[in-house]
Amino acid sequence: MGTKFKAYSSNNFHDIKQLQNLSAGTLLRMEAVAKVLPFRTNNYITDNLINWNNIPNDPMFQLTFPQPEMLNDIDLQRVIRLMKGDKVKLDLEIRKIQMKMNPQPAGQLELNTPSLEGTKIKGIQHKYMETVLFFPEQGQTCHAYCTYCFRWAQFIGIDELKMATRESQELIGYLNEHPKVTDLLITGGDPMIMKTKVIRRYLEDILKSKPGGLKNIRIGTKALSYWPYRFTIDEDADDLMLLFEEIIDAGFHLTIMAHFTHPVEMDTPQVKEAVKRIISRGAIIRCQSPVLRHINDDADIWMEMWSKQVTMGMIPYYMFVARDTGPKGYFNLPLDEVYEIFSSAFNRVSGLARTARGPSMSTKSGKILVDGIMTSNSKKYFVLKYIQSRTPELVNRVFLAKYNPVAVWIDDLEPASKSDELFFPFMKQHMQLDNGTLDDDFDDEYAFA
Ligand SMILES: *Cc1c(COP(=O)(O)O)cnc(C)c1O
Ligand code: SF4
Repeated sequence: MGTKFKAYSSNNFHDIKQLQNLSAGTLLRMEAVAKVLPFRTNNYITDNLINWNNIPNDPMFQLTFPQPEMLNDIDLQRVIRLMKGDKVKLDLEIRKIQMKMNPQPAGQLELNTPSLEGTKIKGIQHKYMETVLFFPEQGQTCHAYCTYCFRWAQFIGIDELKMATRESQELIGYLNEHPKVTDLLITGGDPMIMKTKVIRRYLEDILKSKPGGLKNIRIGTKALSYWPYRFTIDEDADDLMLLFEEIIDAGFHLTIMAHFTHPVEMDTPQVKEAVKRIISRGAIIRCQSPVLRHINDDADIWMEMWSKQVTMGMIPYYMFVARDTGPKGYFNLPLDEVYEIFSSAFNRVSGLARTARGPSMSTKSGKILVDGIMTSNSKKYFVLKYIQSRTPELVNRVFLAKYNPVAVWIDDLEPASKSDELFFPFMKQHMQLDNGTLDDDFDDEYAFA
């Protein structure tokens, strides 16, 4: 089993020997989907995480390989037909299907981009008072791509959709001007795709100058699942551990925001070793993931995942509701079902695992928790709660929506009463997204990684 990174994409995935049992037709359909949706997996995943006796149902196969059902049949057949012919026509068709799938529309990235002395700073997002997101330009890809990822627009070469920066100086300037910011969340893509010396270059001035009110540094990553060698035997893994120590020695708290989608990702000796090493340097690992049909839509899976995290010394953090983008509908689950999955897992784990919060929707106006389903006067309601908001006063406030068994997102819901309408300021504009009108203030969201 190789420990040297080998990526597989639509060009070379036929080399994966385990795929050779699939029929030519299935492979062709997968290849067609991979033309439209970004596809990248690697040898650690194919050799250690996928149970090849269980495909196509295997969760890690679903998570990293294109599935024919991710496109509608008409689009799929059209791509297959064009694959035999004119490349220009094929590319046009592909782009058309991609745009239909609701990538981050151009322009919206600009909107959340803060300015410093009147100049826009690319690669920084500041949505919640205490936390700034930083997207280092060289961290905008991943060791493998999740098939549901709404960041996919960044990977398919639509240049103007790309958020990035090279300038950590600008970041420092921004943090100095905003002393209320306590947290810096370095995200992507996956920042752990960067070599240690590059990450170090981004961080060393921050460690030296301790800008503004900065106290906590978080790094969002899926590398523990997709390439744990990043923390153990890669050539600059030791140097990365040293850097983690330097961050902590400089007086910052360091949290690795790990993205674990399924318990199988936590079972290999490689990931166990990686977790041990990170924790031994004084960093904390917090875990989060969306809940997704075909992958982890089962309370037992979440129970196992949270329990394992605690046993390994990690802290369960967020369960996210998957957002409607990319392969439309394929991963969607009704809020009602998601709430049941969360509750049934939550009520069977130790209190140590009940640090998990969710199910949470990342919306334009904040993170909204489905906190309960209740009946009053024989009417059913969702109890919702802001757990993060642009308007800090909204945080920890509950509000009610009319119960709807098929709703998958906040914009499928209606306020229960006039007073709850206060909490739905975004709803009307938001709904226009579906008929192609782009909401000006529609937000980019934070990676699950
Ligand atoms: C979730 C999120 C954060 C971090 O929020 P916490 O609740 O502090 O983890 C920061 N910025 C954005 C845009 C987010 O979506
Ligand atoms: S969810 Fe994270 S790791 Fe997965 S493709 Fe998106 S950015 Fe990469």
